[in-house]
Amino acid sequence: PGDLGWTLDYATAWAFRRLVRHRPEIADAIARIRRAFSVVSRHTPFHIFPFLDRVLFDNKLGKSVYLVWKAQSLASPGVTRAGEGGSKISIELNRSPFEDPYLGRTGAGPIDVLLDQLIHQMIHAYFLVACGSQSKDEPHDGRLLDGLHFGVLLLAIWDIASRGPDGPLNLIFYAETRRRWSAGVPVFHVQHPLLPPFIALGPQPTTDASPRWTGSSQCTLDNRHIRHSDLRNWQVKSYAIALSTNLEGKGDTVFDYATDNKLEPVHRLQGPPSKEYVELIWEDRRIMVPRERACGFASLKEALEKNDRFELSVPAGCSAQLFALLYNFFLHGRTIAEEDEEKKKKKKKHRGAPAIVAHPRDVKEEEKGVLTHLRLFHLATAMEFSELQHHILDLLWTSFSRTTDPPIEILREVYGDDGPTHVDLHRWGRAFLLRRGRGGRSNY
Ligand SMILES: [Zn+2]
Repeated sequence: PGDLGWTLDYATAWAFRRLVRHRPEIADAIARIRRAFSVVSRHTPFHIFPFLDRVLFDNKLGKSVYLVWKAQSLASPGVTRAGEGGSKISIELNRSPFEDPYLGRTGAGPIDVLLDQLIHQMIHAYFLVACGSQSKDEPHDGRLLDGLHFGVLLLAIWDIASRGPDGPLNLIFYAETRRRWSAGVPVFHVQHPLLPPFIALGPQPTTDASPRWTGSSQCTLDNRHIRHSDLRNWQVKSYAIALSTNLEGKGDTVFDYATDNKLEPVHRLQGPPSKEYVELIWEDRRIMVPRERACGFASLKEALEKNDRFELSVPAGCSAQLFALLYNFFLHGRTIAEEDEEKKKKKKKHRGAPAIVAHPRDVKEEEKGVLTHLRLFHLATAMEFSELQHHILDLLWTSFSRTTDPPIEILREVYGDDGPTHVDLHRWGRAFLLRRGRGGRSNY
């Protein structure tokens, strides 16, 4: 499934800001849940999920996540899995703490235990909706780990929820705390999710520093190396910078450029995973281009990857006709279809500038002709897109043996109004002026 294409830092900052802004509403909602569902039934998680989704995450999870409740090992806080292919993100909650051993049915177990699991897994799911999946076996950036970013949001929610009349909500951060609790070592209501009820370790990470991406949350990994001070530091050092990237400003809609040159709007969450495309911004619309192709152009790679935005503005003045050629080049490495190119070459094998043919004008040909390509060349120059510049020069020298475009306009594009343009284009312009057509008539 699709995702919002946000970075982990931005997703954390966005949610953090939202949590802080909605403190009273969130505190009230959680207090009401704790009172209304003092007895957990088999329907409870499904009742409170949409409620929490709304107050904590602005309904971002709703359509992308489904919930399962099943028995797992007692210590498990559940698991969140990235959807593969077309499937949704799933949250599998652990039903075992709620099984009534005597009656053999669900019914026992405090609401706080359910809230701990649900809020925990909803943070993971939120990161997947906002940032998408990573690639298999990539080093994990933490979006499915109980790491720094996860901790920032968990702590913020805990802080808000614990000020209510029912006292602190027992949100567990450390896997070790959960392990001890299930092993029967008494763990009372922790006063603070980051005050570990165990002897502190040295500052070194105690686990493999970079777990690989598995597509599932890894909530049992030892995360004792993350300290309260790390989370505070993130708020001071990274929060404002992350927010300033304003990835939300990219909007929820991207466009698919269909074969008939029509733009089809697609909601990001219904589109392909964000890691598979970049966005060409053309007249305020964001058009998807396969990331592998776009980042394959060395001259664009840096601009595209800047600030992890994977976007590129098409300069103003790009007509639909030019955009069609530009898009073709991104997709196929050529501006016009191969058979068109061959056809143009076959007419007359040549290397040189085209001869002018006054009649008849072929409007369809002109759409992909010399003048259009000269204009595209200027666009490529403005975009610093050197592969496209080379491709157009190559076409100009080898693929057009004749043109019906108005010669004055061709010269205007080559020489410009304000002095010399590209040196290779000049060379071609000279050849164009010297070129003689049939009967020895020169273009000049
Ligand atoms: Zn987790």
